[in-house]
Amino acid sequence: MILNKATGIRIDGKKHMSKTTPMHEYLNPRFVYLPLIQQNSPLKRTVEVGDTVKIGQTVALREGFGAMPIHASVSGKVTAIKKVWHASGRMVDALEIENDHQNALDDAIRPEPDPSLFTREELVNKMVNAGLSGLGGAGFPTYVKYLAKTPIDVVIINAVECEPYITCDYVMIEKYPEKLLKGLQYFMRAADAKRGVICFKNYNVGIIEALKPLLSHYPNITLFPVKDLYPAGWEKYLVQQVTGRSYPNLPVEAGAIVNNSGTAIVYADVVEHNIPLISRAITISGEGVKEPKNFLVPIGTPVKELIALCGGYADGLDPAKSYYIAGGPMTGRAIMIDELIVNDTLGSVIVKPMPAERNHPACLGCGRCADVCPVFLAPTEIQRAFEMNDKDAVRSLNASKCMQCGLCSYVCPSHIEISDFVFRAKELLRK
Ligand code: SF4
Ligand code: SF4
Repeated sequence: MILNKATGIRIDGKKHMSKTTPMHEYLNPRFVYLPLIQQNSPLKRTVEVGDTVKIGQTVALREGFGAMPIHASVSGKVTAIKKVWHASGRMVDALEIENDHQNALDDAIRPEPDPSLFTREELVNKMVNAGLSGLGGAGFPTYVKYLAKTPIDVVIINAVECEPYITCDYVMIEKYPEKLLKGLQYFMRAADAKRGVICFKNYNVGIIEALKPLLSHYPNITLFPVKDLYPAGWEKYLVQQVTGRSYPNLPVEAGAIVNNSGTAIVYADVVEHNIPLISRAITISGEGVKEPKNFLVPIGTPVKELIALCGGYADGLDPAKSYYIAGGPMTGRAIMIDELIVNDTLGSVIVKPMPAERNHPACLGCGRCADVCPVFLAPTEIQRAFEMNDKDAVRSLNASKCMQCGLCSYVCPSHIEISDFVFRAKELLRK
């Protein structure tokens, strides 16, 4: 099933707030907090409190599905196991490492003399050893996509960055265009794919300007601008646009693998220098901060420090009367305090003033939520079924097909968070 109503709707991007400032590198926070959880999998710690660690040293293991190591993002001493706020909206255990500012590197980090010699298997193993997960928000272990037995025709880079406010992928591509192309080329070799395609919003001409001069060295890679509509970055939509094929479950069924642009940039360093996933880009934006910015930070950096580097809160704003959206405003989670840390899935934090109290909003029955739903759901009917705890009705209304785009809430004239009901109905089916 593919986007209906042609291709989604246009929404106010608010990208200008952070797009024009250069990427700010903040690589040496005093402490980092590495969450001992990835997606929903708890991690097994391999270091003890009191141990010293180097950058890139394995400090925990993800086991079972997606098994891979997790690495220290700074050098220093493991000082505690602490509870921290996580992008998932809950508190989780995290490894606290006090940075010794020596930037001591693990022995495994070293340049490769000739990356062109790596076999497919070696390229996939490098994803595993680097603990590489998707930086687009889902945090899916990257190598799992490359174990598919089906032939892969194309690797698609998703640089669409669909949601309002977020610009860190855009700024990273402007800064590291060659790394993006190299990372994509290594992905193509790991999948034995004939072509690579980079998808981005058509108004992002900066991406064309950064990549075009280099493309002659990468003849099998092409650029693919998509319309400025939401949710044009939806994986199913991109695969359909690029390949002309749709799929029921996974892109590999259509002969495609989709990776985020940030993941490809990190992968270039994984292949050429054995640098594991230890840092990521993040946008701090929203009406609640003075000067929105993009940052490149070690995983585990406290968001509070990044807000301070944005000049702090907007004039007159009381932090206690703000809220923080972990992720984009369409699909992210609202968290009430700024004690959040940067994990592999956190690409943005949007700071907003708390809205004025509203009376309990009434549904007008206008049907707009159903009109915009890209997968043809009836959100209000799902809400009713959920509130009656009627699992059969929730199932027959196909709540599990919800792609969590948040459009139904966005268009609702009564400002009902109708998408929350659909997410919770989906959860009900999983229980
Ligand atoms: S959040 Fe789910 S129900 Fe709402 S518009 Fe998106 S897909 Fe449809
Ligand atoms: S858009 Fe809002 S007001 Fe209109 S039917 Fe949906 S929930 Fe009700």
